[in-house]
Amino acid sequence: MNAEDMYSGHHPNLMTREEKEQYEHVDSENGIPTYSPILRDWILFGRITGNEDDDEDYLGMRPSPEAEYRQEFERRSPALGATPELLTELTTHYAKLPAGGVQQRKLFNCLRSQMLRQLISCDGAKSMDDLVDILQKEMESGIPSPVPDWYKFSTVTFGPRKIGYDRCSNWLGPCHRAETHDKPQFARCSKCKVAIYCSRDCQAFDWKARHKKVCKHVAKEREQIIRASAAMSMFAGR
Ligand SMILES: [Zn+2]
Ligand SMILES: [Zn+2]
Repeated sequence: MNAEDMYSGHHPNLMTREEKEQYEHVDSENGIPTYSPILRDWILFGRITGNEDDDEDYLGMRPSPEAEYRQEFERRSPALGATPELLTELTTHYAKLPAGGVQQRKLFNCLRSQMLRQLISCDGAKSMDDLVDILQKEMESGIPSPVPDWYKFSTVTFGPRKIGYDRCSNWLGPCHRAETHDKPQFARCSKCKVAIYCSRDCQAFDWKARHKKVCKHVAKEREQIIRASAAMSMFAGR
């Protein structure tokens, strides 16, 4: 469970229409699926192509930047394993979805989270074109995004942990900043330790706009998750 999931749900009266749609899993408008099968494989399930150890393309989970998978992660394919065909499929599919609708937003959000999770910075990215540009460049370079010096591969198995880059929680701003290789990592709200901000300005804005009403609830949820995780760790003998 990452900060974004913890922060975004459970407060329907404080969510924007866009957040509600995202949260309530509104999967289709006019019955069109959000993902084509090839995009589903690639974006959701981590289809990895051209792996060194295996000439055949195969389906598998993308290695996560956690201590357990560190070696695999450091050998991961650039750009989420994108190929020119996949990027074309992505842009074509995206263009067919109702402009500005929930499906486009979901596809954008999903791709952005996958990229951030894989330490591909989406700092400032506002549109699908921005994300595709970033992937295109990384694909052409043939080199996966480097791991920043400040990044710690998490050894935590259950409960809240940092995986990949975080983005600024001032969504209402709206702020599109995300962590990057070259800047220090973002700071968390000292009270709940869930909301994450790129700057004091964003924290101040979000506090007024929403966070002061949410902070306590989010903190309580975090405590509950930590307690449940400790129980699971004991059960799993860790
Ligand atoms: Zn911000
Ligand atoms: Zn807080």
